[in-house]
Amino acid sequence: MKTCTKCGVNEVIIEKKHSGQRLCKDCFIQGTQQKVLKDIRHYKLIDKGDKVMVALSGGKDSVMVLDILNFLYEKNIIDMSTVTIDEGIKGYREDGVKIAKTHAKRLGIEHTVVNFKDSFDTTLDDIMASNSQRGACTYCGVFRRWILNREARKIGASKIATGHNLDDETQAILMNYLEGNIENLTRIGPKTISRSEMFTVKIKPLREIPEREVGLYVIARELEVHLAGCPYSSDSFRGEVGQFIKQLSRNHPTIMYSTLRGFDKLKPAIKYEFAREFNMGECISCGEPAAHEMCRACIFSNELDQNKRSL
Ligand SMILES: [Zn+2]
Ligand SMILES: [Zn+2]
Repeated sequence: MKTCTKCGVNEVIIEKKHSGQRLCKDCFIQGTQQKVLKDIRHYKLIDKGDKVMVALSGGKDSVMVLDILNFLYEKNIIDMSTVTIDEGIKGYREDGVKIAKTHAKRLGIEHTVVNFKDSFDTTLDDIMASNSQRGACTYCGVFRRWILNREARKIGASKIATGHNLDDETQAILMNYLEGNIENLTRIGPKTISRSEMFTVKIKPLREIPEREVGLYVIARELEVHLAGCPYSSDSFRGEVGQFIKQLSRNHPTIMYSTLRGFDKLKPAIKYEFAREFNMGECISCGEPAAHEMCRACIFSNELDQNKRSL
C-alpha cells in the first residue's frame, strides 16, 4: 500500500503528477478545499458581505462550487443563492434540476429554476427542431447569460459563481488563440467585471482545479451529481483541443498550469491592445445591457420568431 505524502498514514487515492503529491482521501479533500479558498482570497473573488449566486446545473463542477462556498455561507461571510437554468432538453435536463434542488434544500439555500420557455417562449429542443441557422451552444450560451444576469439583479446578487475548471479555461485560451479570436481572450480570467454596472461580476472559483480532481472531489465527498452529457454538445473543435492538451499533459504534467500562468501574464498587454471599448446602452426590446440597439438574446429571439412565421 502506498501511503499519503501528507499524513503518512492513509492509503493514497490520487497521485498529482504536476506537484508530485500522493494523497489519501481526507488529505485530498482538505487540500482541495484549502486551494479553492486560497484562490478566492488571492484573486479577491469574494468580499465579506457578498451575495453570491451559484449557477447550479447539478453537474460535478457547479456542485463542487456550491459545496466549497457553503463554508463561507455557514460562517456568515457571504449570503448565497442558487439558480438552475432549464433549457428545455427532454430526457436530459430533468435529472440535473432534481439534483440541484436536492443540494440547495439540503444546505438550506434559496433555489430558483428559470426556463427558456418562460423567458424566450421557446425551448432548446424546439430551436434545434426548427431551421435555426446557428449551433445549439450559441443559442444556449447567449440565452443562458441573459437569464443569469437578469436573475442576479432580480435577487440582488453581487457575484455570479460558475463551475469553470482548469481544463475548461486552458481549452478556451488555446481555442481562441488558435482561431485568432484575440478579442475573446481579453475576457478570459478568474473574475469578469464588465464596464456596464448592469452586468453582475462573474467569478470562477475552480479555475485552477483540473477536471479530474473535480470528479474525484465529488466522489470523495459523496456528492450526488448529474453525469449525463448534453445531447446537443457539438463543439468538436473544443473537444479536439481538450484531447490535445490532455495528451500533452501525460508527458508534461504541468502544461495546463503553465498555459494558464503564461496567459495571465500576457493578459494585461492583450487587454490594453485589443479590448474593445463598447459604449454599453440598453436593449430597446428587453432593457438588458447591449452594445448595439438590441442585445444578442433579443436578436436571436427575433430571428427564431421570423423562422417560425416563414415556415
Ligand atoms: Zn493523508
Ligand atoms: Zn434584449
